[in-house]
Amino acid sequence: MSSPAGKTILASKIAKQYTDELISITSKLSKKPRLVGFLANQDPSAKMYAEWTGKTSRSLGFEYELVEVEKENLEEEIYKANANDDINGIIVYFPVYNNRQDQYLQQCVSIEKDVEGLNFTYISNMYHNIRFLDDDLKQKKSILPCTPLAIVKILEYLGVYNNLLSYGNKLYGKTVTIVNRSEIVGRPLAALLANDGATVYSVDINDIQKFERGDGLHLKHHRVIDNIKESLQDVAAKSDVIITGVPSPLYKFPTEFIKDGAICINFASEKNFNEDDVKQRASLYVPMIGKVTIAMLLRNLLRLMANNNKLEEN
Ligand code: NAD
Repeated sequence: MSSPAGKTILASKIAKQYTDELISITSKLSKKPRLVGFLANQDPSAKMYAEWTGKTSRSLGFEYELVEVEKENLEEEIYKANANDDINGIIVYFPVYNNRQDQYLQQCVSIEKDVEGLNFTYISNMYHNIRFLDDDLKQKKSILPCTPLAIVKILEYLGVYNNLLSYGNKLYGKTVTIVNRSEIVGRPLAALLANDGATVYSVDINDIQKFERGDGLHLKHHRVIDNIKESLQDVAAKSDVIITGVPSPLYKFPTEFIKDGAICINFASEKNFNEDDVKQRASLYVPMIGKVTIAMLLRNLLRLMANNNKLEEN
């Protein structure tokens, strides 16, 4: 096999600009912003992720406290944290019950402290392409869910966003395939990219949907077309970007489906692309995104503080 034309781009390199920005802001604050993480499951990988969040947060000038609680006490603990003025942001490590109760618990987090951007108002604003909480003054930006936001920032870094086009249309002409339609990442991501002008094929285990703003982007926000008859191979052949998030070590996106020169990004914990040959097709390959996600989580925390007039400088 000849040496590949494509390049691997690491999340740490992409995150650097944002982590530098975070340090420069936190170093000027009179008090360190405080993030609290609630862990109510026994999953060792959730605990590892939580500890890693703590380490990264502290290294960037934030205070981080991990609170381990029993499931039954979680709701009460969230309410206490909502009412505690010393706490600026709250993150809950899911799954807790692994059913609809988890969505309820997520909504218990105060909108003023929801660093993950999963409050109903934020999600609804995102789906409707409403970018500010105060639509009249446009001073308070709505919070975007941190993993989809991380992928947007990665696409900006990789040059997929066309800066010659106006804000909100910068993905015009781009086609993206996303293999994952979870409520936390895949579906919001498809909506965000389509709202920015892309044609997005959203693939899950059952079917393929198309998210788009219509011919010439005449729609203000995206529409969803169900039951696309094309196959994964058909939509991949048109795609400038392929994003995967399948939570299985057995899943591999077929390299032969990737268009020559496409950009491939994986956000699953497992490697969804075949590393032996993905760069034979892909121009740029991002194998993991966690470091950018955490930078976005902390960026959201500062934005929440700004929205609530709590960013006091020395
Ligand atoms: P999920 O289980 O809620 O969703 C998985 C999605 O993949 C579903 O839409 C499902 O239909 C689809 N899927 C599964 N098998 C498929 C197949 N063979 N073909 C097509 N689609 C298939 O999971 P999630 O919460 O979205 O997390 C997915 C992965 O992303 C996990 O590995 C998780 O750890 C990771 N994750 C990473 C970050 C990050 O910032 N790095 C953040 C959140 C989640």
